[in-house]
Amino acid sequence: MMSAPAGDRPLRILISNDDGIHAPGLAALERIARQLTDDVWVVAPEAEQSAASHSLTIHRPLRLKKVSDRRYTVDGTPTDCVLLAVNHLMADQRPDVVLSGVNHGQNLGEDVTYSGTIAAAMEATLLGIRAFAFSLRLRDGRDPDWATAERWGPDVIRKGMALADWPRHVLLNVNFPAVEPDEVAGIHVVRHANRKAGDDLFERMDPRGRPYVWIGAARGLKDIPADTDVHVVEALGGISITPIHLDLTHYQTLARLQEVFG
Ligand code: MN
Repeated sequence: MMSAPAGDRPLRILISNDDGIHAPGLAALERIARQLTDDVWVVAPEAEQSAASHSLTIHRPLRLKKVSDRRYTVDGTPTDCVLLAVNHLMADQRPDVVLSGVNHGQNLGEDVTYSGTIAAAMEATLLGIRAFAFSLRLRDGRDPDWATAERWGPDVIRKGMALADWPRHVLLNVNFPAVEPDEVAGIHVVRHANRKAGDDLFERMDPRGRPYVWIGAARGLKDIPADTDVHVVEALGGISITPIHLDLTHYQTLARLQEVFG
């Protein structure tokens, strides 16, 4: 189990993301965190790292730059940011919770495996710290509704942090729909769907007449069950919360293979 914060000091929150230190979603997440505590630390990538997944920089040194009080950049991935923050910068007093996001774009279904936003939360989870990944669905042709995340985010964190029995190796993946704060169709705890990015590949010609391929986003609600994150966020306009488990072992197959291999 991961312990809840001690009651005799303010909650200490670490924030990171994969859209980089200047992302508007990071500012939105800071405003969410400040509704809960004054002890907010930001350690974010210097440059955008979307779809960086859980990559760790080991073939070159990393530079941690102080921007202002409790605010730093790292010239690396979201995973680098959380690792350096927890085990180096904040080693004397680790954060009670790590928040990642709010990502500029949803992380639903199989996005979980590509997402740098979720990777930052994974790294915190592997370090034994409670973590939330936040993402906002975008709507074509309109500005992101960061206010929706700001209105609903604090309640999600408060209720999540109140869990007495948060298991090890589990993080919460939270997605906000692309609707105004008042239009949100509630909070739904659901499993993730199985919908993968990259089914749409766009083949075009570049200006010099050479072909290229551009990987498109996963789209469409065909065959998506109602009890999944994709359905809740895209069809219903609700907020999805999915607990993600970092033990990737498939136990039924493990048992069957043990029989096969004796
Ligand atoms: Mn991103």
